[in-house]
Amino acid sequence: MNTYPVSMSRNLAFTSKKNSMQNQASIIASSLSELGTLSANDVPKIMSMIQDVNLTRIIITDSEARILYDTAGTEASIGKYAVFAEIARALDNKDVFYSEFKNRAFMSRQAMPIRYRGTTIGAVYLYDFDTDQASLIENIQSNMMKVSYVICAFSLILAIVFSWVLTKRINHLLSAIKTVREGNYDHVIDVKGKDELAQLGNELNIMAERLKTTDEMRRRFVSDASHELKTPLAAIKLLSDSIVQNEMDTGTIRDFVNDIGREADRLVKITEDLLSISKLEGGKKTEPYRIDMKEVVVKSLQMLNLLAENSGITIHHELDEGCFVLATEDDLHQIVFNLVENAIKYNERGGSVRVRLAKTDEYVLLITEDTGVGIPEDDLPFIFDRFYRVDKARSREAGGSGLGLSIVRDAVLRYGGTVEASSREEGGSRFIVRFPLLKKGADEK
Ligand code: ADP
Repeated sequence: MNTYPVSMSRNLAFTSKKNSMQNQASIIASSLSELGTLSANDVPKIMSMIQDVNLTRIIITDSEARILYDTAGTEASIGKYAVFAEIARALDNKDVFYSEFKNRAFMSRQAMPIRYRGTTIGAVYLYDFDTDQASLIENIQSNMMKVSYVICAFSLILAIVFSWVLTKRINHLLSAIKTVREGNYDHVIDVKGKDELAQLGNELNIMAERLKTTDEMRRRFVSDASHELKTPLAAIKLLSDSIVQNEMDTGTIRDFVNDIGREADRLVKITEDLLSISKLEGGKKTEPYRIDMKEVVVKSLQMLNLLAENSGITIHHELDEGCFVLATEDDLHQIVFNLVENAIKYNERGGSVRVRLAKTDEYVLLITEDTGVGIPEDDLPFIFDRFYRVDKARSREAGGSGLGLSIVRDAVLRYGGTVEASSREEGGSRFIVRFPLLKKGADEK
């Protein structure tokens, strides 16, 4: 800010000086050239007629550089040789201008030949020592300096205020993060404004809310799981205590031990399901690959044949070819197995289960339908929740853990699919799983 305007005004002063001195020199030169020859008598006469020349010094020489006229000189300089380089160059037919800014003044020199009919008959030399313009520039410079100081001080104050406000807000966020980190998820950051820090505060509030939900879910899951494990364990303890404490015949003991075995089976089922869930949630994941869903359905149905037979249920299936999806066999098996097993478990003797595998342009659909007990409308939104059972006693009796459908949902979501449950008008339930179809030519991942 300081340098540019000052150097600009210096350049302007320099140019205007040059123009005015050149003008003056050429007026003097042309006036004198009319004399033809220059002499110490004639030159002062002509010079006295030229008005308005406001210069520190004017020297006129003849063609040999002898001084004929000198405004600063006394009589003593007349007739002497002028030993200025500028005059020598002017006598060599050149226009010379030179200016410098020194000691708070502009010092400018202009020399020009005086020509008469093609020959150089002398030279004009002008010298100007100007302190007015120089002090003007000095003034500008010192004013600019003052303005700069004010601006600097103002910026400094602004910077301090801004950084103080920012630091205060960041500290506020920081202490909020620490509070949330310590487990106080209810802490809400008071957000003002719409800038980045306010957005950060909003995001932190959302994150704390999420953490709270996840924490609650985790607590509920642990307490539900413990409860589920506790029931069969308590039954086992009761049965074994009875055997130990009471006199029993062998038949009764066998019945009790059978019951103990059934409870142990349930424990195994629950722990297996819990393991599946933890595997789906974050265990070591197998990369999905291109797989024909029909193969998985056929295998799962084979495994469930015996259960269906024992329960007096007939399974009908209609499976389309080319139902390729991107998934793992394990997870697809979990989906098919749990859905068909439920369709058998919650069915009536003599009922049937229909499994349909079909594909559309974009999807692979797996539909299981049964003629069973059905699911009441009010329970439909919750049946995919962990440990949710419509009929607790029936689920227990059927050896359910309450985790099957939640495993199905987790596995389906993992591969970008959807699952929905509905009641059939003619009784029983319908489950529809929809996966994106992996088209021919799509590479295995
Ligand atoms: P469970 O181990 O108890 O079968 P699931 O998560 O597989 O647990 O199912 C949750 C609940 O949804 C079951 O307890 C049952 O009440 C109900 N349910 C699931 N599938 C069916 C079905 N096909 N017909 C009727 N009810 C079903």
